Amino acid sequence: MHINTKCIQAGYNPANGEPRVVPIVQSTTYKYETAGAMGDLFDLKASGFFYTRLANPTVDAVEQKLAALEGGVGAVLTSSGQAASMYSVLNICKAGDHVISSSAIYGGTFNLFNKTLRDLGIDFTFVSPDSTEEELAAAFKENTKCVFAETVSNPSLDVVDIELFANVAHAHGVPLIIDNTFATPINCRPFEFGADIVVHSTSKYLDGHACALGGVVIDSGNFNWDNGKFLMLTTPDETYHGVTYTQSFGNAAYITKLRTHLMRDMGCMMSPQNAFYLNLGLETLFLRMERHVSNATKVAEFLEGQMATGKITWVNYPGLKSNPKYELARKLMPAGSCGVVSFGVKGGREGAIKFMEGLKIAAIVTHVADARTCVLHPASTTHRQLSDSELEACGVSPDLIRFSVGIEYIDDIIDDIKQALDKIEG
Ligand SMILES: *Cc1c(COP(=O)(O)O)cnc(C)c1O
Repeated sequence: MHINTKCIQAGYNPANGEPRVVPIVQSTTYKYETAGAMGDLFDLKASGFFYTRLANPTVDAVEQKLAALEGGVGAVLTSSGQAASMYSVLNICKAGDHVISSSAIYGGTFNLFNKTLRDLGIDFTFVSPDSTEEELAAAFKENTKCVFAETVSNPSLDVVDIELFANVAHAHGVPLIIDNTFATPINCRPFEFGADIVVHSTSKYLDGHACALGGVVIDSGNFNWDNGKFLMLTTPDETYHGVTYTQSFGNAAYITKLRTHLMRDMGCMMSPQNAFYLNLGLETLFLRMERHVSNATKVAEFLEGQMATGKITWVNYPGLKSNPKYELARKLMPAGSCGVVSFGVKGGREGAIKFMEGLKIAAIVTHVADARTCVLHPASTTHRQLSDSELEACGVSPDLIRFSVGIEYIDDIIDDIKQALDKIEG
């Protein structure tokens, strides 16, 4: 099946007389005829549903669809994107281990790594997304367990060379985890470039309507865990009667452990209701991404044209020919990157605020990457505690406006920008 067909058909195959649409199974628990049948489920000897913290038929169907879209062997949905990023690392790292991460990552992920997981004893080294093979290799330590990066970073819109990062990670015997939230599997499938694990905040384009928080971890099934570094996967787990994940589950070892170990102990599962909403969004993902990309390209080109007036000071969009990552973006994402454009307006912080308050269609919201055009000024909102110099250090300039181009009629979006620009002095 083509990926566009998978968006609609994958993951759910109703039998004769069953509902055509994935039903919401609003039940925490499932009935069995014998204690033995249920015991086999607990021992991981049989597969089936027994408690919604671990698996639920609605959630399961959507997990299978997402695994199919990314080309993986299995997926686990989580309550948010934050939970997915946390689990992707905690599944193979414990106190005393070390992780290498691109510095161009979502602010929430940066705090999770740099503060919360560090406090739990996991060490992090942050590297430039533009690292050469030598620079990346130099960050490795004896105890490094994985490398983490974003395909297209939020909000800096940097593009990472997935192939280069994967090659260096593999040469050091560790997997590459990619947060593919902004590109979506429609525009980029990181496994095809060597990534081993993919995570998403499904709250963004995958849901697409800004109605349900969620996250997902997807396993490519390609990484060979049996190299002496991942004893949690290759030696018996006493909390599951001595099951060894790589022996019992083959190339689905990572994703099986994530569910049976982390979901069992920590929760953070997606609710059946939210999985249903997410699935509705996924059905139109390919249509929406096409429009997000074409609208964002037109917005970026329009803004670039306005630089001559002096009102727009710079524009960043990986789809612009003038962008330093244009060629890399085309290699990873031949159909375009995403719908988010960032730019600066004349007058720095004050200019940005004045411009945003002049917009009528584009709403000021924290969210990004959904059907409605929205806008955020990190320096006065999400990053407002930081000084101008601290902002520059994390790649967010004081005048940066993150413009998330929706799927409305393009002329209306551009007219809205025009009238807001008219309100700031030339
Ligand atoms: C929003 C976002 C997250 C966090 O996801 P939530 O669903 O908000 O928890 C992680 N990574 C990226 C790239 C994001 O944009």
